[in-house]
Amino acid sequence: MEELVIVGSGCAGMSAAIYAARAGMNPLVLEGDRPGGLITTTSDVENFPSYPEGINGFELVWRMRQQAEKFGARIEGASVKSVDFSDANRKILKLDGGKSIEAKKIVIAVGSSPRLTGVKGEAELYGGGGVSACATCDGAFYRGQPVVVIGGGDSACEEALFLTRFCSKVYLVHRRDEFRASKIMADRVVSNDKIERVMSCVPDEIEAGKDGKCEAIKVRGVKTGEIRRIECKCVFVAIGHVPNTGSFRGSVEMDSEGYIVPREGSLVETDIDGVYVAGDCSDKKFRQAITASAMGCMAAIIASQKQ
Ligand code: NAP
Repeated sequence: MEELVIVGSGCAGMSAAIYAARAGMNPLVLEGDRPGGLITTTSDVENFPSYPEGINGFELVWRMRQQAEKFGARIEGASVKSVDFSDANRKILKLDGGKSIEAKKIVIAVGSSPRLTGVKGEAELYGGGGVSACATCDGAFYRGQPVVVIGGGDSACEEALFLTRFCSKVYLVHRRDEFRASKIMADRVVSNDKIERVMSCVPDEIEAGKDGKCEAIKVRGVKTGEIRRIECKCVFVAIGHVPNTGSFRGSVEMDSEGYIVPREGSLVETDIDGVYVAGDCSDKKFRQAITASAMGCMAAIIASQKQ
């Protein structure tokens, strides 16, 4: 039986692995479907302390991984499909491929994924075809071109403002006539000449051109039903995130959105003894590399101190 299994290999998982390995727990990290986590999609991380010049997101987490391996963490390319936490002393993780692992303690650090709209054309064009969930990663590819951002929260406003640095025009499509974003962000959007607000509209379809890349989006007025076609080279979807916690549903306490809820008085201990949580699958407020790493550190320290 494993002493500690860490599920997820982003900043939270790798930081937990560094601390657990140094504490002599011989941790096993299960990489999951996206090795390195969501930060691997960020080109420049400029706010992780100790990198004044910034660092590529992939490189940052890769360095954490090397550090964890240096202290003896084992990393396996597997994903957890379901779990059984009914036995307090023997937690069971069922992996893709049919294998099962038993562990005394678990750190869940499975992160979150961008929420998508599900409209026609989105899935086909996602990731290189002109649909993206990360302006920081992909914005510079659309220099001098018109783009669309979908959403009305702080992320959508931030992405739209960021994109005005490169793009000829940014259409911000939001389903209501009022932003959810904080006033300061909404005000910045309103006063930016490069941003056209397309309010009370929802995406209907993303169209590809002959080259198989995004050419336009059709949006539908929620009050009028009217369809408007907006020519654009990329649609940036910024409508929030969903935690990757489906495999743990019913086994550990979650809120209605699927975020794992720590027990009262703790940031990383769940309602199940010996099961800890770290990073974006629990934290929907900060969602930063540094906070994910800090939670991974806390989870590993507590796990190493408990019998
Ligand atoms: P959010 O606040 O949940 O906003 C999501 C937006 O997407 C909302 O405007 C929502 O519309 C819209 N939306 C949701 N599902 C949709 C769908 N299926 N179709 C069309 N639109 C849809 O998410 P977020 O902007 O990612 O922010 C998450 C948290 O991080 C917030 O607490 C935010 O303040 C924080 N954050 C802060 C900063 C900053 O301070 N610089 C930057 C980014 C994020 P409705 O408004 O109609 O619900």
